[in-house]
Amino acid sequence: MTKDKSAGFGTLAVHAGQSPDPSTGAVMTPVYFTSTYAQHAPGDHQGYAYSRTHNPTRTALQDNIAALEKGTKGIAFASGLAAVDAIVRLLKPGDELVSSNDLYGGTYRLFTKLFAHYGIVFKFIDLSNTANLEEVLSEKTKLVWIETPSNPLLQIIDVKAIAAFKLKYAFELVVDNTFATTYLQKPLDLGADIVMHSATKYLGGHSDVVLGLIVVNKESLAERLFFIQNAAGAIPGPMDCFLVLRGIKTLHLRMRQHCENAKQIAHYLQSHPKVEKVYWPGLSSHRGHGIAAEQMKDFGGMISFSIKGNKESQARSFLSKLNLFTLAESLGGVESLCGHPASMTHASIPREERIKAGLSDSLIRLSVGIEDADDLVEDIDQALSKI
Ligand SMILES: *Cc1c(COP(=O)(O)O)cnc(C)c1O
Repeated sequence: MTKDKSAGFGTLAVHAGQSPDPSTGAVMTPVYFTSTYAQHAPGDHQGYAYSRTHNPTRTALQDNIAALEKGTKGIAFASGLAAVDAIVRLLKPGDELVSSNDLYGGTYRLFTKLFAHYGIVFKFIDLSNTANLEEVLSEKTKLVWIETPSNPLLQIIDVKAIAAFKLKYAFELVVDNTFATTYLQKPLDLGADIVMHSATKYLGGHSDVVLGLIVVNKESLAERLFFIQNAAGAIPGPMDCFLVLRGIKTLHLRMRQHCENAKQIAHYLQSHPKVEKVYWPGLSSHRGHGIAAEQMKDFGGMISFSIKGNKESQARSFLSKLNLFTLAESLGGVESLCGHPASMTHASIPREERIKAGLSDSLIRLSVGIEDADDLVEDIDQALSKI
């Protein structure tokens, strides 16, 4: 059996970064509940001195995600947003960050309500058309930040096309890979410099942990981000690292089912008379379908759709009638969840900007779980029949 980087995804998901514990033979990576480590002599230790800097459970997770993303260094944080925060700390006052406008609400809030006060300039544009990038790039642009598929409209951004601008401008390309996961999409292979995950979602996969991850393949970035991780200290605890390590072991199996279920639901919704528009990159009617088919292995488990009439009251009524889908924030767990982005995940974005970005009042977002597809379709069907 090979555990090196040429191994298949499932093999790496189960084994990368982990081997039986040398002191006891424990097959599963122990949860190292310790803040400090005995030293043989001052400064003479086994690579572990203090748990903000290094913890063996965290090391296993970091090495695991680095192998899966085909990077050289993984860095774990207390949450996805703590990972976003660490990346933006690479910038100095006056530096510019260009981002897509269809962005996770918390990321948008961190950019505009916190980092903007420190003199960092944020520019939001529609990057589903990559030609738009040329208009805003300058020598001040240090980061370009994209989510693909994006949240909640599942817009697809052509990662290779964005990366091609690096020939002319000196920026690092960051891809928030939370929605696609490392199983469906490899941003570093597509030309990105930094991959970021909210492992809270699909990587953890069971809605029982909050954690963030970064993967890079350039030594200079690895060093700077590791410095920020240790200096600012937003690290995850060992138990949380263990839970994400465990979740990742079944990521490939879960993702296959998420994608298959989403496919059935998207096709069902597309032909429903009360549905206005379905957003799922696997549909040939989706604007980004062709690029998604090129840069992703499959189309993911997230679906958004709007109800005809575009009234928030109808969206609310539909959500209240669902039985199997739980109304909740978050996504990517084995269980199906539903949400109303305008009043939940994206409430921090002003209505005017929200509507401009195409995020209507009747938009529903589904995180399709791994239950039986027939049961999920039946649940949606009965709820739609009641509005
Ligand atoms: C949830 C999420 C985040 C933030 O992650 P947390 O773990 O909640 O801090 C960032 N980006 C995307 C796309 C997300 O879905």
